[in-house]
Amino acid sequence: MNQDCLFCKIVAGQIPADKLYEDDEVIAFRDISPQAPVHFLVIPKKHIVGPAFIEAEDEQLIGKMLRVGARIAAELGVVNGYRLVFNNGDDGGQTVFHLHLHVLGGRQMHWPPG
Ligand code: AMP
Ligand code: ZN
Repeated sequence: MNQDCLFCKIVAGQIPADKLYEDDEVIAFRDISPQAPVHFLVIPKKHIVGPAFIEAEDEQLIGKMLRVGARIAAELGVVNGYRLVFNNGDDGGQTVFHLHLHVLGGRQMHWPPG
């Protein structure tokens, strides 16, 4: 755990979150500032700073994040499609430096994302 990391604190239960799923490797919870009718995050419990810091040993974990995100979207009834986003670094719009997958749905997404 990184003591200064917001999402590590959620993993540790030190900060509350509206959890949708949890197992020994990942947690999913609703985004506190939703940008779509459905907007939740899937994070690894392991502190990984962001996409640029994924190591070979994390590959299976990243696949699991995608699978969990898709499964929760289906469980929440998002049947017409959704957007999966990993922001990386400042120009990528990353504000929390603990890897997270955004899952956004329930409205038409636009492209380019801006
Ligand atoms: P990013 O800009 O890709 O780093 O995304 C970080 C996301 O975390 C943003 O969408 C925030 O709204 C969200 N967020 C920040 N703090 C919390 C929190 N305490 N609980 C849930 N989501 C949060
Ligand atoms: Zn962290």
